[in-house]
Amino acid sequence: MSKFIFITGGVVSSLGKGITGASIGKLLRLHGFKVNMVKFDPYLNVDPGTMNPYQHGEVFVTIDGAETDLDLGTYERFLDVYTTKANTNTAGDIYQTVINCERRGDYDGATVQVIPHITDEIKRRFAALKKEYDISIIEIGGTVGDIEGLPFMEAARQFQLENKKEDIFSIHVTLVPYIRGAHELKTKPTQHSVNKLREIGISPDMIICRTEYPIDDAMKGKISLFCNVEKEYVVEARTSPSIYFIPEDLKKQNVDALIMKKLNVKPKKKFDGKWLNDIKKIAKLKREVKVAVVGKYADLKDSYKSIDESINIAAWELGAKADIDYLGAEDKDLLKKLKKHDAILVPGGFGNRGIDGKIASIKYARENKIPFLGICLGMQCSVIEASRNLAGYKNANSTEFDADAKHPVITMLEEQKNVKYRGGTMRLGNYKSEIKRGTLAHSLYKSDNIEERHRHRYEMNPQYVDVLAKKGFTVSAYHKGILPEIVEIKNHPFFIGVQFHPEFGSRPMKPHPLFKGFVQAALKRQKSK
Ligand code: GLN
Repeated sequence: MSKFIFITGGVVSSLGKGITGASIGKLLRLHGFKVNMVKFDPYLNVDPGTMNPYQHGEVFVTIDGAETDLDLGTYERFLDVYTTKANTNTAGDIYQTVINCERRGDYDGATVQVIPHITDEIKRRFAALKKEYDISIIEIGGTVGDIEGLPFMEAARQFQLENKKEDIFSIHVTLVPYIRGAHELKTKPTQHSVNKLREIGISPDMIICRTEYPIDDAMKGKISLFCNVEKEYVVEARTSPSIYFIPEDLKKQNVDALIMKKLNVKPKKKFDGKWLNDIKKIAKLKREVKVAVVGKYADLKDSYKSIDESINIAAWELGAKADIDYLGAEDKDLLKKLKKHDAILVPGGFGNRGIDGKIASIKYARENKIPFLGICLGMQCSVIEASRNLAGYKNANSTEFDADAKHPVITMLEEQKNVKYRGGTMRLGNYKSEIKRGTLAHSLYKSDNIEERHRHRYEMNPQYVDVLAKKGFTVSAYHKGILPEIVEIKNHPFFIGVQFHPEFGSRPMKPHPLFKGFVQAALKRQKSK
């Protein structure tokens, strides 16, 4: 058995197609199906690795080193799986494959065209998913009507034609806006959007309506009639206090059963409702832990999506909810603002902007014994801070910010110096490290060996390890015995810097050990205040 669910979106972007798809995937998984989720993005970047997080939000990294859209993080957290390069496809990547074939002469003199060559490559990628999974959920990025999305819609149409009707289920996610003056929800945008989709030749089997208010039976009837979709297949997706309540909201409307009926499949096991029950506890949490994230993109939470999720997931596990403040590293009142927080996190990043504020925040956390977690650039800044203020190397810096630094405590690996292309060439994906026993890191991971995801060009310079160790700033894990992966400070309740990105490893009810330790230390500090 191999079935496909296509998810398209209409009316506006940011409707949460990824969350909707992942919620459906979750329900199907709880029925025992092997589910895979795959993203097809119509933009021409080969991957989002070179994009500004302001434009695109966080770059999520897979274990095999693909730099991807943040939706893959949503897929991983909902489905509790590891995605890979195969879960992410962009128009840029697809065109590159086709153009490479053309250059090799694979097309035998044919004129290479969007139809059939691009659409065939897209269909080849759809079909490749058949092998391992019972159900593949394919999310097509963008909004119906976008010019650049057309080849994807056309490929989906052809794929539908070439496969059995009962093997393919098409979901269209739309917006049902509320017009305040009229006190009314409006279905017209949904009707237009479905018309647009039907012009392309795709008739949705289900319409999922994003809305702020309940959609009543009459309105469902109207959408059903105008959009040619059975009424029970018109589903309300009301804005929820947590994205993790959406699977339950959809289940209450029978979405899983309706999809299984059309795909002609029976559940593979008795529905396992534990996850849906366990997640409910987050609605009742009272205690709050205040965490500051000091970064470059303070006003765009999506830039730190997985960090946000990781802090929340850890807090939930510890019986609290997190109040996370995103503070701009260039904010003049930064240190004053930090006073109200129980913990400080400095995330990853690139470039010079805000570095002084990040270093000042780390000094503040170190000196005032405030729980601190530094991630990638955050870890590198903690090395710079310790070199300057503990070891007395006033000119210590990363060569990313000062190529001629007198004390280059963070430097580029030789292999990185020869890199010509910016895209896909960092140290990316999973790398192993060995953790020293007796360290804070070891007590958190409870393991000698770990594997974590990386995305960086610079590293802590091993030449400075001993000098810093004498000042109590020690390396607790190495890659291949040479490259520092984790640093920590003794005589501090919780001070850890990691060269990798632990935030990609959290799932609801399974917090990442570093985030759990970090939030636990914050709660402890709060109690002792
Ligand atoms: N800019 C730093 C580097 O390239 C850190 C990268 C990051 O934080 N992901 O090494």
